[in-house]
Amino acid sequence: MHKSDTGFDSDLLVIGGGSGGVRAARMAAQRGARVTLVEAGGTAGLGGTCVNVGCIPKKLYSYAAHYSEAFEESHGFGWQGPAPQLDWPTLKQNRRTEIARLNSVYQDLLLGSGVQLVFGHARLVDSHTVLVTDEDASSSRITARHILIATGGRAYVPEAPGRELVLTSNEMFDLDPFPGRLLVIGGGYIACEFASIFNGLGSRVTQLYRGPKLLRGFDSDIRHFLGVEMARKGIDLRLNAEIVSFERTTAGLLARLRDGGSLAVDAVLCATGRVPNVEGLGLADAGVAQRADGAVLVDGNYQTSVPSIYAVGDVTARVQLTPIALAEAMVVVDHLLGPAAGKAARALSYDLIPTAVFTHPNVGTVGMTEAEARTEFGAVSVFRSEFKALKHTLSGSSERTLMKLVVHQSTDRVVGLHMVGPDAGEIVQGFAVAMKAGATKADFDATVGIHPTVAEEFVTMRVPVPAIPQVEA
Ligand code: FAD
Ligand code: NDP
Repeated sequence: MHKSDTGFDSDLLVIGGGSGGVRAARMAAQRGARVTLVEAGGTAGLGGTCVNVGCIPKKLYSYAAHYSEAFEESHGFGWQGPAPQLDWPTLKQNRRTEIARLNSVYQDLLLGSGVQLVFGHARLVDSHTVLVTDEDASSSRITARHILIATGGRAYVPEAPGRELVLTSNEMFDLDPFPGRLLVIGGGYIACEFASIFNGLGSRVTQLYRGPKLLRGFDSDIRHFLGVEMARKGIDLRLNAEIVSFERTTAGLLARLRDGGSLAVDAVLCATGRVPNVEGLGLADAGVAQRADGAVLVDGNYQTSVPSIYAVGDVTARVQLTPIALAEAMVVVDHLLGPAAGKAARALSYDLIPTAVFTHPNVGTVGMTEAEARTEFGAVSVFRSEFKALKHTLSGSSERTLMKLVVHQSTDRVVGLHMVGPDAGEIVQGFAVAMKAGATKADFDATVGIHPTVAEEFVTMRVPVPAIPQVEA
């Protein structure tokens, strides 16, 4: 792809101004490509899910929710007086202001890099042409040598009578009025995070999950421990439970359960996964192959079955995390334009992706679960520490912390590191670097701890625990 290539309107046309799309557009434009980015949500859509209805507002609300226990815990440290009350409209307004600021920062960054911004819904017409329809229903065609699909995902709500009465995470940020009683359905990232957030903000939260432990795919110990801690914080956690229908009654929204029971609440959040955003995208018209679940199929270079069309991020439904969408976008730009001066072409390994769940307390994890490591290697050593953090000796809180290392016996490599506890995301990020670099348990042992911290536990655990059968339901 070269600037001199004038056969098309653009060298690269990006569909979607979220994490992956913005990163690809900016980087390609900075390298001299003529780039057009089409975003369906206007300026307010720039930044995509993460900025508008995902990572950023969620984390801001998580900070807000932490204050309630901080006020309570402060008494043990000598602070006196009644706890302040949450003013929900203020939190909502301050979040809106910050997100609007970020939207315009994104717009400035794109325009400053020379990206041509087009607001409207994009639909593929053929392998090099996109039809953009704006708010006023007027359409225009744009041709491009390459097209990048970065349209993200959207919430999936299972079929059930009364399904139209439930909310998805998108609507939770601006709820009015604040829900006194909230039912959260699901046991994944979003369900656990929003149950924690609204519990902290003052809702009476019931979380209902169909399986035996939250966060399927995470280490079994962590899953059990998190459930105990979330219940300790006041969430009414119901496992092995399923909803059959919803209806509006004078007592509020009534959710009927498979076991014959029912729950009356003010709002229901359905957090039952996300599906690729492919509706109306014209994938079939352009001949782009999809998986059975609709996700766009890509190869190792993020190229689809149509050589001129690429796809990154949630629309490919692989790892649905912002840093992955960003990294994939950079690989595509290097692939199309060559690496940045003096650098090697970027590649992305899906091994050892660290991740955090911003529950209260947080979960942080990188690498294999104990069960995965046992299946893969047979002989593993497990180091596990469960304790009450120093802060809680005075805070009055009964919160406990769990830290766990999984070590491959024959190489001594640390292959899994897991934690439930305060700031787990912040702590695990640094350890992920060590694990990427191949750190062994001996390296952990040789590292001096920072005292007194929670994190030092990862470098001071010395005695492996006996193997306990791991149930990964
Ligand atoms: P998106 O960011 O979703 O962007 C897609 C864009 O495409 C949107 O702006 C959309 O308007 C636009 N679009 C769609 N169709 C069209 C079309 N036909 N024409 C034009 N434009 C179109 N990840 C983390 O790493 N950490 C977190 O803490 C975290 N928290 C999350 C919390 C929530 C509640 C949710 C829902 C997600 C969270 N995620 C988190 C996941 C993260 O937001 C996504 O993985 C990331 O945003 C994916 O980026 P993307 O570029 O693939 O798509
Ligand atoms: P998840 O896949 O994490 O969780 C979906 C949950 O819904 C699971 O507990 C699943 O159960 C349950 N579920 C699925 N279908 C049904 C059904 N028909 N009936 C009842 N329950 C059902 O998806 P989320 O929506 O929570 O989040 C989407 C993605 O966004 C995450 O996977 C993550 O990649 C990203 N994200 C990241 C965050 C972070 O980094 N902190 C925060 C929020 C989102 P089961 O496990 O039994 O299938």
